[in-house]
Amino acid sequence: MKCYLCKQPTVPLFTKNGYNIYRCPSCGLGRTDLKENYDTFLRWQYGKGYFTGDAQCGAYSDYLHDKKFIVRNMQKIFKYIQRIKPTGRVLDVGCAMGYFVELALTHGYDAYGLDASRYAVSRANKSCEGRIQLASVEAAKYKPKSFDVITLLDVFEHLQDPGKDLQALHKLLRDDGYMIIASGDAKSVLARMLGRRWTFYIPPQHLFFFDRQTLSKVLELSDFEPIGWFRIGKWLSLSYILHLARTTGESRIGQWLFDVLPESLQRIGLYIPAHDNMVVIARKKRKNS
Ligand SMILES: [Zn+2]
Repeated sequence: MKCYLCKQPTVPLFTKNGYNIYRCPSCGLGRTDLKENYDTFLRWQYGKGYFTGDAQCGAYSDYLHDKKFIVRNMQKIFKYIQRIKPTGRVLDVGCAMGYFVELALTHGYDAYGLDASRYAVSRANKSCEGRIQLASVEAAKYKPKSFDVITLLDVFEHLQDPGKDLQALHKLLRDDGYMIIASGDAKSVLARMLGRRWTFYIPPQHLFFFDRQTLSKVLELSDFEPIGWFRIGKWLSLSYILHLARTTGESRIGQWLFDVLPESLQRIGLYIPAHDNMVVIARKKRKNS
């Protein structure tokens, strides 16, 4: 497998969930070797089980019940947006149930969302007044240069061809707009410490494993320039933490606690300042830069 970014031969890192993960020795980008056809994969991966704790999917334990924690995490990024673009049109790519779109609408933005999951989009459109499209980035129907802010929150690592999607989004963003991407940092202390048990190593839903350098590079290749970075901790329900432990962490204790702890206890939220989540703010490259 050749590196997505620098086209150098990659080396095998490890196998997890039956998928091989490779890393480029030159730039460090990690990548899952997805064996299936991507469009077929999208249909089975992001169904109901993805949002309701199917152990095979390794995603959310209960996306609806965890809404308050998910929104609390989004608010940190949203407050930043309010400072740099106090009004305008926002597009949340990979919006799932539309929580971020709802948050932006509540605060006066003209907000829209896009997702590949039929299950999520049908639910999101109930709370977001039909503002959510079921489409890929390339197939989405929006006017060129019509958004002030485009967000990809915990989505970028799910894309099959993130550079191509960035190029399509570049056309939708106004010249003075901002692109905001939140993803895991494969070079964070926690990622290095946990190795293959790091929670972002969830093939096949995560197809790429970026760090600051590789995320900068894919942005630059798509005509964006990063202008700021920050890290965030996250509020997670105990149920979600145990679900992560039993799936991505491959922990038997996690599985046992997930099975025996009462539901009321599992609804408790904990703040995890893991700092393995990075957020980048980027803008279109200036002609003379
Ligand atoms: Zn590379």
